[in-house]
Amino acid sequence: MDLTPIHPKVTPIYQTSVFKFNSLAELEEYYTTPGRGGRYGYSRSEHPNSDELVAEVAKLEGAAGGGVATGAGLAGLLAAVLATCQAGDHVLCPAELYGGSVVLLSLELSRLGIETTYVPLADLYDIAKWRKPTTKLVLAEVLSNPLLTVLDGPRLARACKEQGVLLLIDSSFTSPILTQPLSWGADMVWHSATKYLAGHSDVTAGVVVARDPAIGKRLRQVATNLGLMLAPMESWLAVRGLKTLRLRMRQHSENALAVAHFLANHPAVEQVFYPGLATHPGHALAEHELLGGLYGGMLSVRLADDSAAAVDRFIQKSKLFPLAPSLAGVASSCSYPTATSHRGLTDEQRRSLGITPGVLRLSVGIEEPADLLSDLQHALG
Ligand SMILES: *Cc1c(COP(=O)(O)O)cnc(C)c1O
Repeated sequence: MDLTPIHPKVTPIYQTSVFKFNSLAELEEYYTTPGRGGRYGYSRSEHPNSDELVAEVAKLEGAAGGGVATGAGLAGLLAAVLATCQAGDHVLCPAELYGGSVVLLSLELSRLGIETTYVPLADLYDIAKWRKPTTKLVLAEVLSNPLLTVLDGPRLARACKEQGVLLLIDSSFTSPILTQPLSWGADMVWHSATKYLAGHSDVTAGVVVARDPAIGKRLRQVATNLGLMLAPMESWLAVRGLKTLRLRMRQHSENALAVAHFLANHPAVEQVFYPGLATHPGHALAEHELLGGLYGGMLSVRLADDSAAAVDRFIQKSKLFPLAPSLAGVASSCSYPTATSHRGLTDEQRRSLGITPGVLRLSVGIEEPADLLSDLQHALG
């Protein structure tokens, strides 16, 4: 962004709600020139910091259609659904979907006449079986929460294309460094930028980018009309995070693999769920689909003493994995799905998803791996 004649190396924070015009001709140019003639008008519609964030994410995802940055990840889902669906339309999702997405779709958008059905991920690929005449959109995640089931993205994208429905991929657990869903044939990629994109647990944000410029334009219109736009400071923080995304994803992945191997051999652990382990049922798929041999920083374990009490002992003893129910920060943390993401389910429903009382989810950060292993040894001792 050219700030002639000041030339800052880094885009400054444009903490302004509105921009000035010197004449009516300039105002006219703003409204009538494609791309606004490089001008900005009102920050609810667009501002340089969110434009920079979207451009960087679109570049990483190979998204020719551009997109929008929103005030939270979930606002990105709202923009994606409203950009492509209307009352009477139907959305199809895996039953393993992130809880916040389920709440938005089933408690809020259902009231506006947008209906959602959930089918087990393993059965979702048969889109022809589940689709209705009104099905517009399929939403799926690359890696499920908390057991890290791996999506066969190219297969799902083919099935969606055959059935003429749009595919939206939540890539929050993976980031464009691990995989690029548009290259499989998905139509939109959605990130909770709160997670890996920003990466420092200090900003709540979302980004959605699209292959098709017409969808990208609708995303921006919906965000403008609903006031979903991410603020300048938050956009700037996310852009700063993005600059180290590649480095962080390498270290998150390396550390998580070391932690996974360590825990797989620990007597206090019954099972480790990490796609980088050869024993994980999705390992071959992940190897093929996740690029560069990186499997990300998220993993879950089932403790040998499969109880909430054992989980609580771990939480109280660990210094480097504090209980903080989010993920993907540079500093490690842990979460307890039974009491957080899946607390709305019955015991039986949780068990049917494999979430027993001793299942603990770890978000492995970029600390020295030896420090993480010694903390885990202590916490499990
Ligand atoms: C956190 C998260 C979201 C929601 O993002 P927010 O930034 O919290 O609104 C969506 N999907 C996944 C997989 C997430 O982990």
